[in-house]
Amino acid sequence: MCNLETEGIKYGCGHYVPVRVVRKIDCMRPTCTKSSRHPPHCNSSHCDLYFGPARKETIIQRTDAFCPDDSKYYGSRVR
Ligand SMILES: [Zn+2]
Ligand SMILES: [Zn+2]
Repeated sequence: MCNLETEGIKYGCGHYVPVRVVRKIDCMRPTCTKSSRHPPHCNSSHCDLYFGPARKETIIQRTDAFCPDDSKYYGSRVR
């Protein structure tokens, strides 16, 4: 499967949230739907549908805030 290099924000809760894809690393396999080698009209259910784990995560911004998912979770709690 193919991998991505991303740029993103590191939040205070420890989560990294990608905001931009820098580069796609093509695995060059015809059995991977994300590869440019994959035939456009292939309907096989055996082909990889998803990107693998990010190859490289570049932190372009750090913040002490919670990430959007966690602020939703903690935001619902009254303090
Ligand atoms: Zn691939
Ligand atoms: Zn396919």
